[in-house]
Amino acid sequence: MLLFLAINSKYIHTNIAVRYFYHLCKELYPCEFLEFNINQGIEDVLFEVVKRKPRYVAISTYIWNVQFVRMLTEGIKKLLKDTVIILGGPEVCSDTLEDWEYADFIVRGEGESFFVDFCNSLSRGDEFFLKDYQQFDLEQLPFPYRDEKMDQNKVYYYETSRGCPFRCSYCLSSVDKPVRFSPLDKVFEEIRFFFDKDIKLLKFVDRTFNIKKERAIEIIEFCKRYSKNTQVHLEIEPSLLDEDIIKSLNTSRDGLFRLEIGIQSFKRDTLKAIERVSDLERIDRNIKKLMEEKKCLIHLDLIAGLPYENFEGFKESLDKTIFYFADEVQLGFLKMLKGTGIRDEADLYGYEYQSFPPYEVISNRFISYEELYRLKRMEALIDRLYNRKNLFWTLRYIFKRYPPSNFFESLSYQVDCGKNPKDFLNDLYNYLTSSRLIEDYDILKNLFRFDVLSIYPEDYLPLDLRYSPRDKDIIKAFKKTQLKDFYRNPRLGLFDFDIERLITEGILDKERYIYVFDGKPFKFQVSRRDNS
Ligand code: SF4
Repeated sequence: MLLFLAINSKYIHTNIAVRYFYHLCKELYPCEFLEFNINQGIEDVLFEVVKRKPRYVAISTYIWNVQFVRMLTEGIKKLLKDTVIILGGPEVCSDTLEDWEYADFIVRGEGESFFVDFCNSLSRGDEFFLKDYQQFDLEQLPFPYRDEKMDQNKVYYYETSRGCPFRCSYCLSSVDKPVRFSPLDKVFEEIRFFFDKDIKLLKFVDRTFNIKKERAIEIIEFCKRYSKNTQVHLEIEPSLLDEDIIKSLNTSRDGLFRLEIGIQSFKRDTLKAIERVSDLERIDRNIKKLMEEKKCLIHLDLIAGLPYENFEGFKESLDKTIFYFADEVQLGFLKMLKGTGIRDEADLYGYEYQSFPPYEVISNRFISYEELYRLKRMEALIDRLYNRKNLFWTLRYIFKRYPPSNFFESLSYQVDCGKNPKDFLNDLYNYLTSSRLIEDYDILKNLFRFDVLSIYPEDYLPLDLRYSPRDKDIIKAFKKTQLKDFYRNPRLGLFDFDIERLITEGILDKERYIYVFDGKPFKFQVSRRDNS
């Protein structure tokens, strides 16, 4: 039996490679596939493999699982001496068998043609020789999830194209040319399967989904027509967007599409050095147009540690990125992946990087280790505060007066992201009161209370922000005016002005409002502040 083994980075992930191989080979030779993740005990994974006594085991290697796979191959070989171990995937693309004591084959490039050839040889009983294989015809790819019971909690990956025409020197896809596409009728039939099953998240792994505009629009329109609740994640190249595709995206249902947009840097020297084709003016225009309608969830990526970008330069890129007020901003840290151009140029830019996966940059001529460490602390805060919409309005108020990168930098010296939510909120509040970033204490109090109650129960409020007996009476009186069952378990907040109006229009009125936090907050005016 040939066992295809996937070691994913999280339980919710699904691996399409092992499914392709399995469906292509199952009629040729007895095979099976198993999926695990790196958070499982290696002993448990090894036990599951060994009890099946496979004649062959094939494992895909990636930066997140390569150490796990190394230990696993040792265990498999020591327990099943005759089992042949086959490795593939990006982490072995430049390795030889000398690097892998317990492996018998290393497959480079795409695995589909190899496994079909391998299983054909096995079924005929021929001796097998590794060959140079052609890229696989995507039209012949089987649907990876055929006959599977779908799990609503999982993320389903799907590909409609392979390769990328661009040459970004830090990316392995830059060597995968030319770009190949699955036929559209096949794509439509297959994605209809996901929509019919009403899965939560369908993630296209196409490296640049919008490389062919007309084709991209056809797929977008198909998703608009048939997705009921499924969210579709697409990786978009912002320079290639134009009016037509933006219009198609901007007329979709709220949140149907989640767009991952790589900006990486706003510095021209940096973009040139990494051979990234970016029309910054066009990117700016296109992101703004997408943000105007707010139909798509927008995720923007930056990479720290690129050539010619120092700490201050990166902060400028970060400010520009945050000022789009997209749904998520992700600070990635450059990884010097095997087989990439930037790794070959490491000496040119004075790179120091980890010799083990994920090969993250430690320093270069432009940015020090201490500065990268500072950016890591900032990244954790951006994720916890900005991306998770904690302090949503407070941050917007601050960012009108103070650059986001300076705010996150100074906060990163004061607040520990690892704390539990209550202590974290308390530290944040103390920082904001002492830093005087918001001069008017009334505004700070109201904004902070609003943001906390939008997400957390009342007892998460810092002591200073708890209600006085008089405020509690106002809330109690308000509750009495409502129908008994109107709010089952409402979270109510009393405020001295209209919070959204302050942020969006800059108007500070003198009314008192009760907000009900039940999904989207809605407000009731309760009295003049002067009379309260
Ligand atoms: S980073 Fe994106 S655009 Fe650049 S080569 Fe990789 S996949 Fe292509």
